[in-house]
Amino acid sequence: MALIVQKYGGTSVGSVERIQAVAQRVSNTVKAGNSLVVVVSAMGKTTDGLVKLAHEISRTPNRREMDMLLSTGEQVTIALLSMALQEIGQSAISMTGAQVGIVTEAHHTRARILHIETERLERHLQEGKVVVVAGFQGISSTEALEITTLGRGGSDTSAVALAAALRADFCEIYTDVPGILTTDPRIVPEAQLMDEITCDEMLELASLGAKVLHPRAVEIARNYSMPLVVRSSWSDQPGTWVKSNKQQERSLVNLEIARPVDAIEFDPNQAKIALLRVPDKPGVAARLFGEIAHQKVDVDLIIQSIHDGNSNDIAFTVMTPILKKAEAVAAAIAPVLRSSKAKSEEAEVLVEQNIAKVSISGAGMIGRPGVAAKMFATLAEVGVNIQMISTSEVKVSCVVDESDCEKAVTSLAQAFDITTSPLPTCLSPLSASLPPVRGVALDMNQARLAIRNVPDKPGMAAKLFGLLAQHNVSVDMIIQSQRCHIINSTPRRDIAFTVARIDAENTQKMLTEAALEYSWGEVVLDSAIAKVSIVGAGMAGQPGVAAKMFEALAQHQINIQMIATSEIKISCVVEQEQGIKALQVIHEAFGLAGSEKFVVPA
Ligand code: ASP
Ligand code: MG
Repeated sequence: MALIVQKYGGTSVGSVERIQAVAQRVSNTVKAGNSLVVVVSAMGKTTDGLVKLAHEISRTPNRREMDMLLSTGEQVTIALLSMALQEIGQSAISMTGAQVGIVTEAHHTRARILHIETERLERHLQEGKVVVVAGFQGISSTEALEITTLGRGGSDTSAVALAAALRADFCEIYTDVPGILTTDPRIVPEAQLMDEITCDEMLELASLGAKVLHPRAVEIARNYSMPLVVRSSWSDQPGTWVKSNKQQERSLVNLEIARPVDAIEFDPNQAKIALLRVPDKPGVAARLFGEIAHQKVDVDLIIQSIHDGNSNDIAFTVMTPILKKAEAVAAAIAPVLRSSKAKSEEAEVLVEQNIAKVSISGAGMIGRPGVAAKMFATLAEVGVNIQMISTSEVKVSCVVDESDCEKAVTSLAQAFDITTSPLPTCLSPLSASLPPVRGVALDMNQARLAIRNVPDKPGMAAKLFGLLAQHNVSVDMIIQSQRCHIINSTPRRDIAFTVARIDAENTQKMLTEAALEYSWGEVVLDSAIAKVSIVGAGMAGQPGVAAKMFEALAQHQINIQMIATSEIKISCVVEQEQGIKALQVIHEAFGLAGSEKFVVPA
């Protein structure tokens, strides 16, 4: 007999008939010998409707009253589902978040779960009842009894947190799609259903998967090793399992970690190779990394920032032992990649042996503007200069001098309150058996900003991203590459990053003023960009994955404007008009397309 937590989303409980169908499925699961806690969302688009009502009354509705209002949606569903269960002879009881004792922070409309009291729930389960719990809500404390909500889409988080607190066998998320797909089926109808994905991959695919599964829910599942499955409530298809490695036992207090960063990783044995002044045109990255893959050299970080005139720099890191081989490949290809006929303009190869990679990672950094800034500020305080920066959804990696590595790691562990010892980046033993690319995502809602000629000295990135955080601007991709200009005898570098398009113009204005004050160069904005990313835990340690992605783009004459990577993700910025094409050809190149077209539910 298993203890299962099932969660049904808004569409799955959108009408009386659907609630009855859910009751049937719940009752069948109990008859098969299981104990069940069921978490439900508000019916259909109820929550949207309530938000709209509030805005008809007030332009800036009070947050406490907002929680009071929005939490009613789920309360309707729990009562109706319990009645439907009782109607078919299954004893059931509904409970609000407060009745269960889902205790959260006192932040209205975006509370995080602190802990869950399980005694009441367990008592009802022992009496053979199905317990139907309102998702998305909690209380600030058992004395204050203030109703809080977890933020839109938060019922997934309620479900996985309950599963963790009850030590359930697994958690099922029922929704209106059959599981997690390799990409967005509205753009690529040949997208296929995945059988499984790891939590880490799922988090990196947040822009693809966030609508299906709340990232906070994935984070809890990962931290408590809670098996999770996303399935359709219209069928008996097995769905997609979201898996995690076994983690060390974690306390159930402060269940949703209050910390935005949960690990610090480093690799002191890296070397950096940069190709300077390669032409800014389609096919260059493909050619370079194609040759590197051909020689079976495994690259780690790849970083390309915005172009400078009609040329670009591409930098990458490798493990020190294979440096010689990588360097030979880069040197051999450099003359071929020249940007003009003049010998002096020939691409130049720069090698630096003694560098280290230091990274912070954690799902809590999604949507929190200050996390990267805090990393940069911490490094600046101890005088560490950041040579290159590459970010992904849940990771920020900095390339620093090898002699700074220890200092960097120690200060970051302190700043982010990480008590577990920082880990040398190592590949999970599983990764070799995992597919190199699990899914492909496209983000068309970002704009690119770049600041030219920022002095290359400690504290500059900290200042820049500190300013952005102060203005509450969430930054997605951050790229600082190799290129260095000497102006008035100070070396200067460009720093590029992407922000939500709606924030772009104001951010440019704000930074232009700051640039004057700090004597940075021009602040350039390009709103017409798209970001395509591939994600797969199996790509680490497998040469040729990046090359294949770049080659697919080159074949279709798509120019890569910027590149940033993490161990399990590669993102390219391309021109916005080519975004959809880019997604399609990459998806195809990795053989992810199925033979049948996926029918998007209405
Ligand atoms: N009803 C809430 C919302 O629409 C929570 C949820 O469904 O997950 O955001
Ligand atoms: Mg949802």
